[in-house]
Amino acid sequence: MKYRSILLFGPPGVGKGTQGKILGTVPNFFHFACGDAFRSLTVESELGRAFLDYSGRGELVPDEYTVRLWQVTIAGHEKLGDFVPDRDTLVLDGLPRNRNQAEILNDMLDVQSVFSLVCADREKLVQRLQRRALSDNRLDDANVEVIHRRLDTYELETKPVLEFYGDDLVHLIDATQSPAKVLLDVLNVVTRL
Ligand code: ADP
Repeated sequence: MKYRSILLFGPPGVGKGTQGKILGTVPNFFHFACGDAFRSLTVESELGRAFLDYSGRGELVPDEYTVRLWQVTIAGHEKLGDFVPDRDTLVLDGLPRNRNQAEILNDMLDVQSVFSLVCADREKLVQRLQRRALSDNRLDDANVEVIHRRLDTYELETKPVLEFYGDDLVHLIDATQSPAKVLLDVLNVVTRL
């Protein structure tokens, strides 16, 4: 059985997490943020150390680790009963993040829609991330070089994945609008699914 899913795409700082968290509070939607799953690991674990290493350089964690973490986390939520695949739609935030991940997940996901949150103003994203470094205590937001590397990684590795899903599934959302308006645009599509 494939998991019914909607995907959130967009560069770091564009507001995927904000939208994902809100959508996850709507009954029958379950939010999975890949970065949050990595951040919940302890540095004592091999994967936790790998995450610190890669994210500290602004790079993606290798695919086999990432997909495994997703599978284990989702299976845990299924066991707990807070994610019920027959009932719930998965809101995937930050996964897949490259073509290989999209191909691996293709056997496991029934993708209903892909939302690409768009903000062409790179400086604005950098400023948002720098603010978040303090409020969320995020090491990978503290260094401006790492921020630029992550924005480049998005352009080079993640954005091309939109072509994998194609124009019928991908909805471009103007992320420079207020969070409420972004949510409205997303919900307008989601409620038609
Ligand atoms: P942001 O979108 O602000 O970069 P995330 O919290 O989604 O933040 O991700 C933080 C870091 O976690 C990424 O820079 C990357 O190192 C790692 N990461 C998150 N999702 C993935 C993924 N799907 N594949 C590989 N690495 C990931």
